[in-house]
Amino acid sequence: MKNITRRQFLGSTAVVVAISPSLILTSRSVVAAEAPRLDPIDAQAKALAYVHQSPTADNVCANCQLYTGAADAEWGPCAIFPGKQVAAAGWCSAWVKQAG
Ligand code: SF4
Repeated sequence: MKNITRRQFLGSTAVVVAISPSLILTSRSVVAAEAPRLDPIDAQAKALAYVHQSPTADNVCANCQLYTGAADAEWGPCAIFPGKQVAAAGWCSAWVKQAG
């Protein structure tokens, strides 16, 4: 077994502590990017009348307060449907106008 000095141990621990937050953020981004798309026939989606294409051009997921996708993304997360992505052009009855 290899003996390491206290300095080596503290140095390697510092590197792990410094890198960990960026790994966590990166893995969250990957999870969000790879989350499955919400199926309109999903029970909760049906309950809120979710559709991939909004019937009203001015009221879409992309300008909903609950949408957290990137401005230029076609799909993104929504607080109402955790773990799923909704279409930026979509809509549901929980739509709330984005503040600002
Ligand atoms: S609450 Fe409804 S309208 Fe708003 S982002 Fe989510 S699915 Fe789209």
